[in-house]
Amino acid sequence: MSHIAHPTALLEGHFARDFPEMAIPWRAEEAPDPQLLVLNQPLAVELGFDPDFLRSPEGVRLLIGNAVPEEANPVAQAYSGHQFGWYSPRLGDGRALLLGEIASADGKLRDVHLKGSGRTPFARNGDGRAVVGPMLREYIVSESMHALNIPTTRSLAVVATGRPVQRETLLPGAVLTRVAGSHLRVGSFQFARATDDLGLLRRLADNAIERHHPSSAGEANRYLGLLRDVISVQARLVAQWMLVGFVHGVMNTDNMTVSGETIDYGPCAFMEGFDPGAVFSSIDESGRYAYRNQPLVAEWNLARFAESLAPLIHDDEEQAVALAVEALNGFRQQYSASWFNGMKAKLGVSDRVDHDVASELVDELLGLVQESRADYTSFFRSLGKAARGHAEPARGMIVDLAAFDAWLERWRAVTPDADAMDRANPIYIPRNHLVEEALSAATEGDTGPLERLLQAVDSPYSERPGLEHYAAPAPESFGPYRTFCGT
Ligand code: AMP
Ligand code: MG
Repeated sequence: MSHIAHPTALLEGHFARDFPEMAIPWRAEEAPDPQLLVLNQPLAVELGFDPDFLRSPEGVRLLIGNAVPEEANPVAQAYSGHQFGWYSPRLGDGRALLLGEIASADGKLRDVHLKGSGRTPFARNGDGRAVVGPMLREYIVSESMHALNIPTTRSLAVVATGRPVQRETLLPGAVLTRVAGSHLRVGSFQFARATDDLGLLRRLADNAIERHHPSSAGEANRYLGLLRDVISVQARLVAQWMLVGFVHGVMNTDNMTVSGETIDYGPCAFMEGFDPGAVFSSIDESGRYAYRNQPLVAEWNLARFAESLAPLIHDDEEQAVALAVEALNGFRQQYSASWFNGMKAKLGVSDRVDHDVASELVDELLGLVQESRADYTSFFRSLGKAARGHAEPARGMIVDLAAFDAWLERWRAVTPDADAMDRANPIYIPRNHLVEEALSAATEGDTGPLERLLQAVDSPYSERPGLEHYAAPAPESFGPYRTFCGT
């Protein structure tokens, strides 16, 4: 393990120092032949790194935790979690490490984190490793979400380790370098609560307030304020997922942040044909995390968060429960308001339009889109053209044309704003067949398709000539899509 004399950005060890009960000092496994596959240059600069340094052999070793700056203290974080409804008291970073935090100019900390960096004491039966395909998948989808203005962890780099990893076949190993507001999860609070150390729970809550929800510090009951704030950010987040047709796929409580960022892109996918029951994960047999269930699951997870915080909210259990339930009741209203506002933006319908009129327009349209199994993304994008008087592309996707024509007439009567619609309806999303194409090429050593896909999804709202391939649904031959978790 070598030390870097002049790191270009300072990696602090706040979590490691402040939460020794939840942090096991650990080191990343040495990679035999690390090769940088992709580097997020703008993010590197934003964090204060010199991108040229990160591309150098020493920089690549920093990106995977093989060369650790003097001041850094990498740790595996402890957390618990409900996985598919079942509680696991001890999950934690089995194949991940928090390298440290970088302070930005405004003093906000950002975690630099490794995924696929080798077994830790939390590894259980896992090999601690990750492979190129799924790590690039997280890179593509998280950067796409960021470009769609949806809160998310970011991806700084993917480095191939040069080590073959045993999955169904032998696959090239990789490490993802991930950046997040923090890695505090609902599961982190479940872990702290389960220790029965109220002091630890309080410190963790204070830390979450300071890092993510400082306004609740001023409230009479700051921990109730924290609960309310996390409910709000999650209600908004899940509404945004629903609006772009994103299915997270594994909404376990350990995969839900208190910052309100999307985290852990495992078996996630964007749906193509509109289907409220869409499920992509190979392990989600009951459809627990289907598209339409996501708001309900978020609410369920937030109830677990509330239970963890309860002793801080009030000394008296009954009163704590009453306060928490009242806060949780706010979820549906906030989710619905966010979703409805987003839908109005997608339809270009202004706030001046009567609520009931707008609501009927939204409901009827979704009914038609669902019945037609229309491609969700391209249908909404084509509505912008319909607002400009060119309805054929949208009509071509709908089965019940009489009903759609009647709808179009009522919609045009509220004078939809076509330009606003183009800012709300993306044209380029990481479609499953494009992601798969990019991943297989990169796994074979050709990163060209990956780079082109990233260019398309990095500016999702601006239509560009030559990118038609990236706007079109999967060909029939692609078949039903399944994704695999935890690989
Ligand atoms: P995930 O569903 O990917 O969020 O992971 C759930 C839990 O499984 C976490 O505690 C991970 O650290 C752990 N895990 C997933 N894959 C591996 C692996 N290959 N080796 C060790 N632990 C893993
Ligand atoms: Mg996880």
